[in-house]
Amino acid sequence: MSIAKNIEALEERIAQACLRCGRKREEITLMGVTKFQPVEAVDEAWKAGLRCFGESRVQEAAAKFEDFREQHPNTELHLIGALQRNKAKLAASLFDCIDCLDRESLAAELAKHTSARGSPLPLLLEFRTGEDSKSGFTGLDDIFKTVDFILACPSLSIRGLMTIAPNTSDEGVLRSAFRSLVKVRQELERRFPAESRDWSCLSMGMSGDFETAIEEGSTLLRIGSAIFGERI
Ligand SMILES: *Cc1c(COP(=O)(O)O)cnc(C)c1O
Repeated sequence: MSIAKNIEALEERIAQACLRCGRKREEITLMGVTKFQPVEAVDEAWKAGLRCFGESRVQEAAAKFEDFREQHPNTELHLIGALQRNKAKLAASLFDCIDCLDRESLAAELAKHTSARGSPLPLLLEFRTGEDSKSGFTGLDDIFKTVDFILACPSLSIRGLMTIAPNTSDEGVLRSAFRSLVKVRQELERRFPAESRDWSCLSMGMSGDFETAIEEGSTLLRIGSAIFGERI
């Protein structure tokens, strides 16, 4: 199967899932996760219409996307994997959104490297909803404290939440993981009620669980293998 064909098949399943739960396709962004994929594969996906891409390693993303973006306007690049403090500077200049902010010290580091930006750097806060995942906030108090910190940083801006659901095909387990992320957002909206805040992005759903994620309110799908095939 070609990448274009995979995207077509994926779009059909996304449309069906939207239909089942009465949502609009336009509410959902499809991100192609291109880690371990060559730039030729990214180009193929771009030609098939994809504009949003996710990478999990800063250096790999820099090597792949720095030239690519000059030739492919409107490409949006997200960091979806753990970010080490010593890569924060490069990450802040390379990515359009950091989707895996999971501790205050990292926000502090990013703030240092974004003070000269024209517009604030978008962030998603990662919340842990499964035992399999080693990253993400685990408690509300911790997330509240970090949000307090970020709200005081004019060069950072929170756009929403991200989670990696447990690696299972058990519908019930997946659904409750996704619901717990929605719940965290409700708690955040209650705690930080300013109207100007937009925390509408919910990044949840991967190749194995995106249909359930759509039904539970996802607005940003992170899809790797269903587009590019299994990673070698
Ligand atoms: C690799 C990865 C994905 C994509 O996984 P697939 O199952 O291949 O769709 C999504 N999110 C994160 C954080 C990843 O690391």
